[in-house]
Parts: sequence; C-alpha cells; structure tokens
Amino acid sequence: MSQDTIFTKIINREIPADIVYEDDLALAFKDINPQAPVHLLIIPKQPIATTNDIQKSDREIVGHLFWVASEIAREQGFAENGYRTVMNCNEDGGQTVYHIHVHLLAGKPLGWPPYQERLKT
Ligand code: 5GP
Repeated sequence: MSQDTIFTKIINREIPADIVYEDDLALAFKDINPQAPVHLLIIPKQPIATTNDIQKSDREIVGHLFWVASEIAREQGFAENGYRTVMNCNEDGGQTVYHIHVHLLAGKPLGWPPYQERLKT
C-alpha cells in the first residue's frame, strides 16, 4: 500500500518535471536539486513506498528501473565513464520521497563512501 507523493503528481503531469525517458512501467526525470552534473530519478509508475515494500511480484518492475538506468547511460554517452545508481530507504537511508526511485548520478568522479564528509565532523 502506498500514498500518493509528489512523484505521482509528476507521473500524472499535475506538476512539471524535465522528463528524459518514459515507457509503460517507468518514468525518468531530472532531480530538482542535482548532486552531480547528471542527476536523474527513475521511478516506477506503480507507487511502492520504500524498498522494504517491494513484493516478489515487483521483481520485474524493480529490475526494469535498473535497465532503464543503463539504457539512459548508453543513450546519454556516460556508460563507459561510469555512473552511480542509489536507492535510499527510510530515514537513516536519507529517503525523503516515499515512492521508490533510483538516483542515477554521473558526469564526474563520484567519491566513495558517499557519507565520508559526514563522518569527518
Ligand atoms: P530521496 O531523498 O527520497 O532519496 O530522493 C528524493 C529526491 O527527489 C531528492 O533528490 C529531491 O531533490 C528530489 N525531488 C523532490 N521533490 C522533487 C520535485 O518536485 N521534482 C523533482 N524533479 N525532484 C524532486
């Protein structure tokens, strides 16, 4: 079960987004607050609140999100240089929108681990 979020409004074109890919199962658009030169969000059209809520029957759609990520990487020309895909879950994972999404980050060397700066303080 899932409540509608801002991502459902983007799917339904109730609020604008810079959409870069769409098919029957998924939508990809630019993150409003990019953390890298390329920062896209890939979401299922079917809302699933968190990765904890993924059911066995959702395996195809979740796998599809990562296929879309790799397809966009190829089309936009950064597949060879590389990129990062991230799914945040709940508060400790940094999730703020409760409709699962793959962050697709690229366009520069990305540091690892991503929380290194926070550990230094
Ligand atoms: P989370 O923190 O849940 O892993 O990621 C949510 C992402 O959604 C954030 O990176 C945030 O910048 C992005 N976001 C939140 N609201 C909007 C919006 O209205 N439009 C777009 N394009 N991105 C959004």
